[in-house]
Amino acid sequence: MSRFLNEKYAAFEAYTPGEQPKDMRYIKLNTNESPYPPSKKTIEAVNEKEISRLMLYPDNECVSLRDKLAGLYGVNRENIYLSNGSDDILNFAFMAFTKNNKAIYPDISYGFYSVFAQLYGLESEVVALKEDFSIDYRDYLKKDGMIVLANPNAPTGLYIGLDEIRDILKSNPDNVVVIDEAYIDFGGESCFKLIDEYDNLLVVQTFSKSRSMAGARLGFAIACKGLIDDLNKIKYSTNPYNINRLTLAAGEAAVDDNDYYMNNCQKVIKTREWTAKKLTSLGFEVIPSKANFIFAKTDLIDGEKLYEELKKRGVLVRHFTNKRISQYNRITIGTQEQMESFINVVKEVLDENR
Ligand SMILES: *Cc1c(COP(=O)(O)O)cnc(C)c1O
Repeated sequence: MSRFLNEKYAAFEAYTPGEQPKDMRYIKLNTNESPYPPSKKTIEAVNEKEISRLMLYPDNECVSLRDKLAGLYGVNRENIYLSNGSDDILNFAFMAFTKNNKAIYPDISYGFYSVFAQLYGLESEVVALKEDFSIDYRDYLKKDGMIVLANPNAPTGLYIGLDEIRDILKSNPDNVVVIDEAYIDFGGESCFKLIDEYDNLLVVQTFSKSRSMAGARLGFAIACKGLIDDLNKIKYSTNPYNINRLTLAAGEAAVDDNDYYMNNCQKVIKTREWTAKKLTSLGFEVIPSKANFIFAKTDLIDGEKLYEELKKRGVLVRHFTNKRISQYNRITIGTQEQMESFINVVKEVLDENR
């Protein structure tokens, strides 16, 4: 820390991203990236012609990509906001929509929520998940601050249905409810359909997981015009050209190629179910997942030990030290071949620890 840092950030605890090792030796199952590359058309969209225009600013209104997304989801352009990764939208939401300077979110969820709450000096109401890690929607009725739920939740993979979200929205007419749908394409139903009914609903999605573009940094929000206007106000007060030209081109092509990406999601779902079955037969408890990862533990080996033993053998998964989940590991679903190797390595580790 330098002596220049504003003292309000001195004790600040930043978010810790999953490891991103520089060598490619690992089977990388730790940051929920897609194991499949972008589509051919997406790759071709980032071409010499586009690169040769890099001296020009990108379209700050992102009209073309917003229109494509609006078409895909059957909403209007004014209902779509684009951002440099969906973390950016979450950041803005914590900045802008936190009534009573308060944010309400589960104890086990995306680690960034508490970081943003801290960044803006907010009070956090941290709601414990039920014993089985599911969200009880009744815990979020009639609150007095912004509610943030990842659905499916991370790192559990558990999903709550539209009816429950509707009840939360209905009973919180004066609070924004942020539904972080980073993993919605892996088996859940998006709640964006409710934006016409509820002006307090902010749906956040990303191209990072289901659309193989984590490296491009592209996220989007779907909401009523008022909330989108507010996000734009903050964007134009911080970084009007928040999406670069190459990412915009890739994003447009990716929406055109939606079938390719949704087909990849189906492959991931199939591999997820295969992996869950294998792990269960090896003695793991696997939480039913609607995401591109599974969360699992076993009495046969300590959670952190398993993480370390896998890493020694070239397999990276994500382990969290938080006590409530320290026996678990979060395993991103890779290709079928990667998961077959993963299962073999797990068997090896278990055999050696018997
Ligand atoms: C990965 C993830 C994000 C962030 O995604 P980016 O668009 O890459 O910033 C947001 N929320 C959850 C729950 C995630 O897992």
